[in-house]
Amino acid sequence: MASNDMNIGESKNGKNGWKVEDNDGSNSKSQGDNVVVSNIKLERIFSMKGGKGEASYANNSQAQAIHARSMLHLLKETLDSVQLSSPDVPFVVVDLGCSSGSNTIYIVDVIIKHITKRYEASGIDPPEFSAFFSDLPSNDFNTLFQLLPPLANYGAGSMEECLAADNHRSYFAAGVPGSFYRRLFPSRSIDLFHSAFSLHWLSQVPESVVDKRSTAYNKGRVFIHGAEECTAKAYKKQYQTDLASFLRARSKEMKKGGSMFLVCLGRTSVDPTDQGGPGILFGTHFQDAWDDLLQEGLITSDKRDTFNIPVYASSLQDFKEVVEADGSFTINKLEIFKGGSPLVVNQPDDAAEVGRALANSCRSVAGVLVDAHIGEKLSGELFSRVEKRGTSHAKELLEKLQFYHIVASLSFS
Ligand code: SAH
Repeated sequence: MASNDMNIGESKNGKNGWKVEDNDGSNSKSQGDNVVVSNIKLERIFSMKGGKGEASYANNSQAQAIHARSMLHLLKETLDSVQLSSPDVPFVVVDLGCSSGSNTIYIVDVIIKHITKRYEASGIDPPEFSAFFSDLPSNDFNTLFQLLPPLANYGAGSMEECLAADNHRSYFAAGVPGSFYRRLFPSRSIDLFHSAFSLHWLSQVPESVVDKRSTAYNKGRVFIHGAEECTAKAYKKQYQTDLASFLRARSKEMKKGGSMFLVCLGRTSVDPTDQGGPGILFGTHFQDAWDDLLQEGLITSDKRDTFNIPVYASSLQDFKEVVEADGSFTINKLEIFKGGSPLVVNQPDDAAEVGRALANSCRSVAGVLVDAHIGEKLSGELFSRVEKRGTSHAKELLEKLQFYHIVASLSFS
């Protein structure tokens, strides 16, 4: 398997009626009786659930919105450290892993308003602003673009008028498809990179984790939480390789004096097999739901074992080692911040609502991967079991399911 590939797709072919095609249209390799696993590149299919439906990311990202708002003071500290460039050239802001929905639009607005104030406070007319919304190509950019407020009437009025006009944006917007683990922008063109709740997504499930012959094979599990040490090592190595690629790419793209504000899932434990909140999200009821499908004869154990969630909640130490080894960025701030529960419910006493919130929340982020692995129908079965299990553990879920985030403010000089 090529290094960027991940084992997530299965074709549907042969006796059981499954038929499969690789994403490039070529035939998949046959790996056993009637199991055909295709080498689909994660980055070519992965996204949060698009649209505006019940399990869409746009409809299930209130928790991220709340967590982002609780960190605004940290974001603003970073914004205060960005070197203001000449007002003759546009000030360029990028949101990496923007997804669809209004969170990214809100944050970009906060950033541009804050930077505008900084220009004004130093008696300089603010420049024009350019904002790039970047995510993998399968991201639902259409839904995102439809949510963008119209462009304020640049040129016709003053910048102050533009900013005062509510429901207008005071920046030029563009979408940039591609993986943030590679180059996305020209050299020295970006003033500020922002990325929230995205960098814990690995570029792939480590190959050894889905290789039966390897000691890192994650038998019986679909996530690193509670896994063997070897499996955890493979995940950690993947995370650190990916983060190093991310920093290398950004260090080329960033203007001198630019800054980055990064937020991703973190853990408080030293041990990577204790993933904390994400461990509960993907390693308990979600895990058990896979076992339900197995016990009901709907999937094989190989099928379950070749599915893994490509997420790694890192410790501060894991993160710091990579930034220091890269050496291009100064760490202004690096801390672990309590985000809270990923479940937003109106009635915490309503167990059914909690179960539904768990299933929707899980599906909005991992549904696309599950669909690719077992097809939409079985995926529906899986998430209905997640819901059922969540409903019967509602109280415990609300108490224990808490997320921590790594928050990093880095500058480039
Ligand atoms: N920042 C948004 C969305 C976070 S969801 C918010 O605050 O609500 C995480 C996003 O990261 C998803 O849209 C996913 O597609 C994106 N992502 C994951 N891996 C990526 C990669 N390698 N390159 C670019 N985007 C990626």
